[in-house]
Amino acid sequence: MKKFENTFTNEMTIEERIETIHPLFFEIKRNWRELKIGKFPRNIKLPILLKDYYKYGSCRRKNKNEITICRIVLNKLLLENDCQYDLIVTLIHEILHAYLPNEEHGEKWQKLAKKVTKKWGYTISKTNKENTPAKKLLRKKRKKSNEYN
Ligand SMILES: [Zn+2]
Repeated sequence: MKKFENTFTNEMTIEERIETIHPLFFEIKRNWRELKIGKFPRNIKLPILLKDYYKYGSCRRKNKNEITICRIVLNKLLLENDCQYDLIVTLIHEILHAYLPNEEHGEKWQKLAKKVTKKWGYTISKTNKENTPAKKLLRKKRKKSNEYN
């Protein structure tokens, strides 16, 4: 997969930023075979965005006729100017959950996350350890919501 390059510019509208998500999803899918771990998760729906969400993202699972369908949810704040790296990292993180649906952040998941980190150069981990712009924004958001609760 190609190296990260920030393509969000000040001139871009929110809609234009949203439009980058599906191509990004398909780029990950296209490059999946580089990981040599088998097929891209099958029952995965295209990511959707949530506003006022307290997490970066999540992978929601639903059982339908004995098939588990995964829906990735991404926090809308990941569309802010300097958050594109976190957007990509979050999307990959959640796809790994769809690939290993019953693992949470267990050993298998962590091993895979390490592999992706090594192969693609995006740091995939259980939690965001780096102090990225998205982390600061999320912290601020959580603090603010606590003030009203
Ligand atoms: Zn996770």
